[in-house]
Amino acid sequence: MLGFLLARAGVDVVVLEKHSDFLRDFRGDTIHPSTLELMYELGILDDLLRRPHQEVRELGGQIGNEFVMLADFSHLVTHCKFIALMPQWHFLDFLAEHAGRYPAFHLRMETEANDLIEEDGRIAGVRVKTVDGPQDIRADLIVGADGRHSIVREKAGLHVDELGAPMDVLWFRLSRRAGDGEQTLGRIVRGKMMVMLNRDDYWQCAYLIRKGDFDRIKQTAVAAFCADVVSVAPFLSDRMHELKTWDQVKLLTVRVDRLRQWYCPGLLCIGDAAHAMSPIGGVGINLAIQDAVAAANILASPLSRGTVSLADLQRVQRRRELPTRLTQKVQVFIQDRLIRRILGSNEDIPVPWPVKLLKRYPFLRRIPARIVGVGFRSEHVKPAVTEGRGL
Ligand SMILES: Cc1cc2nc3c(=O)[nH]c(=O)nc-3n(C[C@H](O)[C@H](O)[C@H](O)COP(=O)(O)OP(=O)(O)OC[C@H]3O[C@@H](n4cnc5c(N)ncnc54)[C@H](O)[C@@H]3O)c2cc1C
Repeated sequence: MLGFLLARAGVDVVVLEKHSDFLRDFRGDTIHPSTLELMYELGILDDLLRRPHQEVRELGGQIGNEFVMLADFSHLVTHCKFIALMPQWHFLDFLAEHAGRYPAFHLRMETEANDLIEEDGRIAGVRVKTVDGPQDIRADLIVGADGRHSIVREKAGLHVDELGAPMDVLWFRLSRRAGDGEQTLGRIVRGKMMVMLNRDDYWQCAYLIRKGDFDRIKQTAVAAFCADVVSVAPFLSDRMHELKTWDQVKLLTVRVDRLRQWYCPGLLCIGDAAHAMSPIGGVGINLAIQDAVAAANILASPLSRGTVSLADLQRVQRRRELPTRLTQKVQVFIQDRLIRRILGSNEDIPVPWPVKLLKRYPFLRRIPARIVGVGFRSEHVKPAVTEGRGL
């Protein structure tokens, strides 16, 4: 996204991706109203919405036997009053396709950054591994947008504060059948919790376990795990035979952390590389996009003049740190107060009082809708990075 916006503003950009495509099934699927608003500002919303997606206008969940509605997006002041569910690889292909129309945009697939080049006390480039062998790529600014296992932030020696997470996620797919319903749903039943993403012909299932428990769970037969899944979502019983071995179940380790300083001379981290997000609320993609927009708004002019200062990089962190901290605070609160409690017991938990309030006073569902759908500080594409402004 940052590469797209900078190239659009006339700044020469090279985007590196270590894989040969964007097809990773563990990326999450949510494109939030605020991200859709940015697509509108960029004039590409209609094209995006022509691609296969589902529109989630309300978010609900099942707690024990009770169905509760948690968020209602219909009152947001955005063009799209829904979350678009689209596998992230389709969204990245879409962005790359539009960015590719600008001559300043260069996407290099199968190019893996594995070290930084330091010269005169600043980062001056990256060392990369390619199919043709190692290469050096030099730039006025290196942006680490390489996710929560960021090699860039590690090599830069930036200090990471760990906020911790009580859970990991088991990620697997099961076929989706006529009559299953459309809803993407969270389910909590007797110490078990699962979220199911509707990907048309299959359900992408995310089953929560206590952190570090996978080795113990894997000692048992996969059938025992299937029985647990059915106890959370009984309608899946007719297709659990599809899950035959543990190889079909991927462990996704959840981490929540934040860099104390997101930059150093010549380098900036954004997205999960600056702040790994918990999957709670499915807001990590949104936050990463908002970071990219803020970075483009602040850095397009100095980059086009070739004079990015440390103060410019500091401005990006200052702009994005508060929304990051607030979002992680909410995620850690839910992890500690709810998820830890659910996974630590075999009993049905009572419906938490905030959820009861949402049930009793439906207008309150606008609050979680705003936090999830738009976030704490929404970014907009500034005129300075608008096409044709002569940067
Ligand atoms: C189990 C789980 C489920 C989640 N579900 C959701 C969800 O539904 N919705 C949501 O909004 N968020 C979700 N999140 C959070 C979300 O995935 C992240 O917050 C978001 O993807 C961060 O985006 P990013 O661009 O910073 O990093 P990433 O999406 O991780 O992208 C980093 C990219 O850099 C590439 N890369 C990595 N290292 C290198 C290298 N050395 N050289 C070149 N390229 C490299 C990677 O291949 C990748 O393409 C989930 C997280 C977890 C753990």
